Amino acid sequence: MSTIVVLSHKATKLMKLCDLEGFDCLDDLLQVAATESVCPAICMTEGCDCTVEMEPDQDHGFCEACGGNTVTSALVLAGLI
Ligand SMILES: [Zn+2]
Repeated sequence: MSTIVVLSHKATKLMKLCDLEGFDCLDDLLQVAATESVCPAICMTEGCDCTVEMEPDQDHGFCEACGGNTVTSALVLAGLI
């Protein structure tokens, strides 16, 4: 596993999503995301960490918490789609 020297906004959100969904590591989350028809997703707005399940390729899902079209799936955040 590579060391992330500077955590990007995406990486930070991805770690947060992992944490909130109860996964020990990113690999576990991505494993689930890759096999299920829905994927854990998180709002990208600063200060809003609303998580929901979305389509795996979603990158502008509606956030019920802040009202923005800002919810992005874990697979998109990880750069796998
Ligand atoms: Zn939000």
